Order: sequence, then C-alpha cells, then structure tokens
Amino acid sequence: MNLQEYQAKQLLAQYGVPVPAGEVCATPAAAKDAAGKLFSGGHARVVIKAQIHAGGRGKGTFKSGFQGGVKICRTADEAMKMAAAMLGQVLVTKQTGPEGRLVGKVLVAGAPNIKKEFYCAVLLDRALSRPVFMASTEGGMDIEQVACDQPEKIVKESINPAAGFLPFQGRKLAVALGLKGDLIASAARIFGGLYKTWWECDASLVEINPLCLIAGPEGQESLLAIDAKMSLDDNALYRHPNILAMRDLAEEAPLEIEAGKFNLNYIKLDGSIACLVNGAGLAMATMDIIQHFGGKPANFLDVGGGASQEQVTAAFRIILSDPNVKGILVNIFGGIMQCDIIAAGIVAAAKESRLGLPLIVRLEGNNAPLGREILRGSGLAIISGDSMADAAQKAVRAVECAGAEERV
Ligand code: GDP
Ligand code: MN
Repeated sequence: MNLQEYQAKQLLAQYGVPVPAGEVCATPAAAKDAAGKLFSGGHARVVIKAQIHAGGRGKGTFKSGFQGGVKICRTADEAMKMAAAMLGQVLVTKQTGPEGRLVGKVLVAGAPNIKKEFYCAVLLDRALSRPVFMASTEGGMDIEQVACDQPEKIVKESINPAAGFLPFQGRKLAVALGLKGDLIASAARIFGGLYKTWWECDASLVEINPLCLIAGPEGQESLLAIDAKMSLDDNALYRHPNILAMRDLAEEAPLEIEAGKFNLNYIKLDGSIACLVNGAGLAMATMDIIQHFGGKPANFLDVGGGASQEQVTAAFRIILSDPNVKGILVNIFGGIMQCDIIAAGIVAAAKESRLGLPLIVRLEGNNAPLGREILRGSGLAIISGDSMADAAQKAVRAVECAGAEERV
C-alpha cells in the first residue's frame, strides 16, 4: 500500500522529522482558507501540491494543458486558482504512465526559501537482507537517473536490524552530504526519525526527496522534509489500523480492490492470457512458462490454497472484465484442495459467465482424474493440458488462433 505525500509527512512528523505546516484540501475554497491561515501565521509564500500516488508532479502536465502539480503562490486568491486548476483534473507525470491520475486533493503548505535539496531514503537491501539508508546531495531530482549517471553521488549506510540505526551512522551521512556545524546533529536526528518511521510502520520504503536546507527570515539555516513518499508492507498492515485507515481506494486499480474482497491476490498485467492459479509460487511459474512459449500473461492471480466455488466464480468475473484477455489458463495443483471440487467450480463459473474464450485447464494432484472427468462431461469446450508446458503451449496457440481470426 502506498501513502499520499501529506500522509507520509504526518507519520514522519510523529517520529520527529520536521515538515512544513500545511493542510490537505478537497476544494478550492478550502485551499484559499488554508493558504489564508498560513499567510497570517507569517508564511511569505505557500505551495499547492497535487496529491497522487506518483512522483514527478512538479514537472508533470495536466490533461487540461495546465503545467505543473506543484505551484508556489503569494496570495490566498492565487492559491485558490491553482487548487481549482488541479482538483478534479488528471495529472500526467513520468511515473503515472500516459493515463495519468485524477487529483482529488491538494496539499496547501508553507513554502520556505530553499537553499539546497538533498535526497534520503530507507529501504530494504534484498542482497544483504538488511535495511539500507541512502542519501545524496542530488536531491529533488529523479534518483533513478542519479543512480544511473552519477552513482558515486549516492552514499549508502547498511543497518544492522538488531542494533538499529546508530547515531554515528546519522552523523557520518550528514558529513557525507557536506553539512556543517549544528546541522550535522539535526540531520542525524532527522535520519534517525526517518529510520524509526520505516521500522515501526513496517514500511518497505520511506523517502524524503527533497530534504531541504532552508533559510529563515534572519538567515538561520535548518532542515525540512519538503516531499515524502512511503510504501508499506501489506502483510504487516493488520498491525497498524491507523495506517490502514489512510488507504486511498481511489488510487488503487478497481479490479484489484474487487479481488481483495474475495481474498484473491490479483495483479493486472498487460498481456492477453489470463491465469488462474493456486499458490503464489505456482502463479509466478505459470506466468514464466507462458512467456517462455511466446505468450504474455494478462494477470497474476493466486486463488489461495483452499479456494471456494464462490472465489473461483469471482476470479473468472475479474479476469473477464479485462478487455485484453483472449484466453484463460487455469493451473491447479490439488494439494490441500481436491481437483474435483475445483473442476466443479470452473464449470459453474464458465457457465455463469457464458465464457466465450478458449479455456485451458491443467489439473494435477488430489482427485485429478475425477476433476478431468467433470471437465470432459461438462459440455463446455475446455482444452485439457497434461502438464504445465503442454497447457501453456496450448494457451499460447489458442490465443494466437483467436487473434488470427479477428484479423481476417
Ligand atoms: P515531485 O515533483 O512530485 O517530486 O514533488 P516535490 O514536492 O518534490 O516538488 C518538486 C520540486 O518543487 C522540489 O524539488 C522543489 O524544488 C520544488 N518545491 C516543492 N515545494 C517547495 C517549497 O515549498 N518551496 C520551494 N521553494 N520549492 C518547492
Ligand atoms: Mn519529490
């Protein structure tokens, strides 16, 4: 699960990371009010920021033609105009893909005077099986680009999960970023807070980009998290009801939400062969083998170890609502499940959905012969696969033939 910038900042603030004062708004009038409060509180400028689950907003373009999802304003009226230009509009950035994202909320925040922008993040180093802290003087930009063009500009600090992030590591990173004097201690505190946020929230990524060196009215320097991004480990969300409440369904793919209601683990992809598989490992192997034989999977779908007929029917419905799907490959290993029960579920689901696409089924394990018998006796044109390879090849061929017919 991903969070919006304003939500990530709320959590970071709870762990002592300084963030600009601000308010999230859903209407231009609310944005005007929020900006008015910030101006009367002493801020010389405010920033209006489109809240979407994607970065690159500053350089993004709205489908309306309006440029930029991050705008600095000097009056409350200007803030209202900017919010009106963003709310209800679709913002396209480097990270959203051409379809863009609908902006439902804007963050209205105090906009300080930025002197320098840094990058910092905590994520999991999968090679070392440890958390890693990454920091760079090249903040505010696309970090993937920095990693590609100037990898020496990214400093990394590996963290022992048992000991946690130690104060000396924070100071070391601060010095590596070229910070001096009191700023070293404040950066180390912020880095500690960033790590604590990552650890205690069970996040997979917490990123501050940019972390800014700002100048106050008398020139005094301090550090402030200007933008934040946070992704959580879904398997640990049950431990964080406060974070789960931040879930933004409008940002999630509708088919994936529907699948979640039936405890199905579904991820939409862009190929033409839908897969319905029990077990995540088998589902991945199925996608691989489809690809191996020249096809493209339309989805990842794990119906779990003990799928019910209701779940199989829901799975068919979800698979079939993707217009790219030209054929379905069912790959079931009956370990916990009985193949005859699955077969009955497939038949019922295929009939209920008036399936008109090629359906290839490979059943193996408990009661497999009985399962195949049910499929054969169903009166449906189900293609049976003897092995995974056989089923995958039959699926690829069936989809190719369907494509050829369409072209004629
Ligand atoms: P992103 O484009 O989605 O990553 O959004 P950011 O919040 O990172 O904003 C992009 C850029 O806009 C930042 O790198 C800053 O240069 C600038 N920016 C954002 N907020 C402020 C602000 O409060 N004050 C100033 N001066 N610039 C800002
Ligand atoms: Mn950013």
